[in-house]
Amino acid sequence: MEPNQTQKNMTEIENSIIADIVSGKYKNFYLIYDRKSTDDTNNQKNSIKYQKSENTRFAFREKLPIAPISVEGFFKEGIISERHSAFKENSEMTFGNGDKVQYSVERPKFYKLVEWLNNGYFKGAIFLCQDRATRNKGDETIIRKLINAGVDIRYTLTTYDKTSSGELHMDIDGMFAKHYSRVTSEKISLTIRKSRADGLCTHKAPVGYLNQGNMTFKPQDPERAPIILKMFKKYAEGSWSLADIARWAIEEGFTMPPVRRRRTEAEMLEDEENDESTQVEAVCRPPTYNNIHKILTNPFYMGKIPGNDGQYFDSTSHEAIVTEEIFNNAQLELKKNNKSARYIKPLDHPFRNMIRCAECKRTYTPYLKKGHIYFGSRCARGCNNHFRSFNLTLITRTLESLIGNLTFTKEELDDIDSSISTEIATLDKKRIDLIESNERKKKKVREDLAYLNANRLTLLRTGAYTPEKIKEEEDSMNLALKSFRDQEEASDISMAQTVKEVIKLSELIKDTLPHYSLCNSYEKEQIVKIIFSELSFSGKTLNFKTKNGFQSLENRLKNHFVTNCGPTGNRTRP
Ligand SMILES: [Zn+2]
Repeated sequence: MEPNQTQKNMTEIENSIIADIVSGKYKNFYLIYDRKSTDDTNNQKNSIKYQKSENTRFAFREKLPIAPISVEGFFKEGIISERHSAFKENSEMTFGNGDKVQYSVERPKFYKLVEWLNNGYFKGAIFLCQDRATRNKGDETIIRKLINAGVDIRYTLTTYDKTSSGELHMDIDGMFAKHYSRVTSEKISLTIRKSRADGLCTHKAPVGYLNQGNMTFKPQDPERAPIILKMFKKYAEGSWSLADIARWAIEEGFTMPPVRRRRTEAEMLEDEENDESTQVEAVCRPPTYNNIHKILTNPFYMGKIPGNDGQYFDSTSHEAIVTEEIFNNAQLELKKNNKSARYIKPLDHPFRNMIRCAECKRTYTPYLKKGHIYFGSRCARGCNNHFRSFNLTLITRTLESLIGNLTFTKEELDDIDSSISTEIATLDKKRIDLIESNERKKKKVREDLAYLNANRLTLLRTGAYTPEKIKEEEDSMNLALKSFRDQEEASDISMAQTVKEVIKLSELIKDTLPHYSLCNSYEKEQIVKIIFSELSFSGKTLNFKTKNGFQSLENRLKNHFVTNCGPTGNRTRP
């Protein structure tokens, strides 16, 4: 994809900012770092908003200049905001080439900050307190190294002396930070283990139950649960395939619970700046084959819950939708891998709802008889159209010759060729007339404009015009001039061009014809749908309307077409 101009400009600005940073332009400035752990919700120090305001106030008080720049995806106006999960804390280490040990990076922005501070791009960084900067021994070592290298690390809530007792103070805070972070993630995993052992639903309950933010109580969804029960019952009967069940459920109006689409990268970046996530509207979707398979195999619907070691227990959070017997029967059927044994609706016939009775407007309905498709109309009482039925071949053949007739014949093309020069001459005459008349009108408007300009002061002084009124007059005259110019430009688009386009369309249709005659009736239906907007029979005459764009070709025919495809009523083909 070609980046548009704005994006290009943005990238250029961005690159020049980074070039400035690298050149040392901001080496006497500070960056603020705020971090929020998404699992530690009750801690005020964890709020991005709180950290932003405290750190900014501190910088102002201490007269520490904050870098007045932004780098997309990293910091905004000198402030870094980072959100991450404590629970997913990754302690993985990989041993790379030589003697390097690599930690997998949990806080990419923090490590980028460290890198830039280490390069001397900024004088220092401001954190609310030590636990916002360091989360483990590794982070602590990094910060300590930066300080030793002369980087100015500041903590808004604590000041550490640059003495040994200051260092001790820092050590102690670091220990607490580490401990706190460990406790948070420990607490979460312990709670989950314990709740599971108690038979509580620690995960999101599946479709058919309601998730109300409470793991001890997952009530049944009054709309979806009854349909799920029926799905199990039908499937356990044995004659339904999964696809049958999916179709049936969709017809019952069954939908999956509302889900939000994935947030875009821009939305995620925006989220880092705030304490709350931006809301994306949730939508309900119809179930897929896989959804149905998942439902029919999930023991949750028997009132079971997965324990810590993978086996299922009786749940204390929710009640069964199906009995164990029905569930087990359904599992047996699944093993048989049923082929579809029933069609809820037969595969539709082509050209359904496309052809009407011209008189009473009822549609001809396709039906199958002895292996052939026929169309029949149940016309309204008193309808004078006695052409009540025809077969598929009649309609496809009629349409084929009708489509053929939409294209120009050789004679017509020759005709167009010879008449086009005279047409152009006529048009050019019209065009010259238009330009002349426009010139007169333009002259008048220009004179009015000149008058207005010359007498502006007088008009104002005498109160004949207010300044607003003068502006209004001026605008409307300029608009008039513009519309004259537009007219002239429009008439510049030549007749020749228009004709060329219609001929091109005619050629395209001609190219389609061989495909039409070879393809199956469903594909024929698709082609017909592209060209026609209405088809109806009055007697054996097929009336039609084409879609926009084909009308210049349609206008040559008279909106109806006789079916018996013989030489009568047809024009000669090349
Ligand atoms: Zn009728």
